[in-house]
Amino acid sequence: MRTCVVCRDKTGKRILTRMVRTENGLMIDPTGKMNGRGAYLCERLACWERAISSDVLGKALRMSLNAEDRERLQQAKPKA
Ligand SMILES: [Zn+2]
Repeated sequence: MRTCVVCRDKTGKRILTRMVRTENGLMIDPTGKMNGRGAYLCERLACWERAISSDVLGKALRMSLNAEDRERLQQAKPKA
């Protein structure tokens, strides 16, 4: 089952956005169709901010997020 990598919400009621590890780094995958190892974040702003400031998302994707990856998350995060 898909769960947010930060809050691990399993209710399935939250909207999840897929992140994919690619050869160009972390990419946001709104369609859920990109190839590669994926991880999900829910729509809570707090989860995105934690993903940006910590290594929890990188660990789920077995990569280390660089500044560009974190900037992509900043651009894509839900509006407060
Ligand atoms: Zn969450």
